[in-house]
Amino acid sequence: MSFHLDYLLDLPGVKVETCTQIEGQIYFRLSALASGIVCPHCDNYTEELHQNRPILARDLSVFGRSVYLQVPRRQFYCASCQRYVTEKLEFLDKKRRHTQRYEQNIYARVQQSSMEQIGREEGLSYDEIKGIFTHVNSCKKKSYWESVKRVSIDEISMRKGKGSLVTVVSDIEGGNLIEMIDSHRQPDIIEALIKQPFEVLKQVEEVSIDMWGGFPKVIEQVFPNAKIVIDRFHVMKAVNKDLNKLRRAVGITDRGSKYLLLSNRSNLNSDQIERLAITLEKSECLRIAYEMKEEFREIYETDMTVKIAQTKFKDWLNYARIFFKESCSTIVNHFEGICNYFLNRTTSGVMEGINNRIKLIMRQGYGFSNFDNFRERVLACFSN
Ligand SMILES: [Zn+2]
Repeated sequence: MSFHLDYLLDLPGVKVETCTQIEGQIYFRLSALASGIVCPHCDNYTEELHQNRPILARDLSVFGRSVYLQVPRRQFYCASCQRYVTEKLEFLDKKRRHTQRYEQNIYARVQQSSMEQIGREEGLSYDEIKGIFTHVNSCKKKSYWESVKRVSIDEISMRKGKGSLVTVVSDIEGGNLIEMIDSHRQPDIIEALIKQPFEVLKQVEEVSIDMWGGFPKVIEQVFPNAKIVIDRFHVMKAVNKDLNKLRRAVGITDRGSKYLLLSNRSNLNSDQIERLAITLEKSECLRIAYEMKEEFREIYETDMTVKIAQTKFKDWLNYARIFFKESCSTIVNHFEGICNYFLNRTTSGVMEGINNRIKLIMRQGYGFSNFDNFRERVLACFSN
């Protein structure tokens, strides 16, 4: 037909044969430019057309009108491997009835608005919009996990009250959410994660977790090559918890004393250090325990191998147990994972930002009534 229409349409491998309008909608009949295809099974070139059964695909609207493309769907016969091969078009995914660019457009708009709203604008049903959203997401999903080596698993509370813990899985290096599971139970998490291809799971080298979830078993079963790394901030939190308990036990309740004791000493200014000294003068026990806490933190601050860290932590456990009873037994129970921190100094620090972002998306609501929709929505937000 006209060169101008091909130019405007801008789709590879096809040209416009005719363009008609029916009831305010625009129809383009397209034909393929190439007379044959390369067989994907044996790389043999074939022009032996077996059949052509065109399909109708929705494309982006123009001039306020919906656009439909009649797209050739050609099947060739490959004589060298004796198979029938359907031609693959770059702009249309297999079995889809909308062009890729149309689906991308819907996908992007849904994130700014709602499925219901975009459905009304495009004259599509909720299910059609949902189908597009799911399809685009599943295409992206592969890339979420691509080349992920360090993973963080954490649980966050989505709603107030019981039974609303959600497990979130993030790519530490990319700072991205890669999975969200509506449960904090081991079997559910394993079931959800094991769906990933084995090549993907086996490339994961480290998984960062806190000490409270049942994650070690999950990691063992899902990631065959991963080392468990206990997040240092959670370990520090456990140590600080014991210190704070001691503070109350010795009756020091001055305003601000908790903050001064639990903060990293190197983060305090000279005025605060002075006030801290005054606080510590009130209790010899607390002063000793405080120094132990800082010694513990310093182990984390120094650059050492796993082996040396193990020795340092063991020494600390020997003398600190008297004041840090609970945290010491926690540390003993997770000793290997805690020391694995020194392999690459991996932390879950990135999780905080991710969790906040998830909660923000949740608060915006968007009228999602079930978790699967919510999950897809959140993953989509992170994939941009
Ligand atoms: Zn072939």
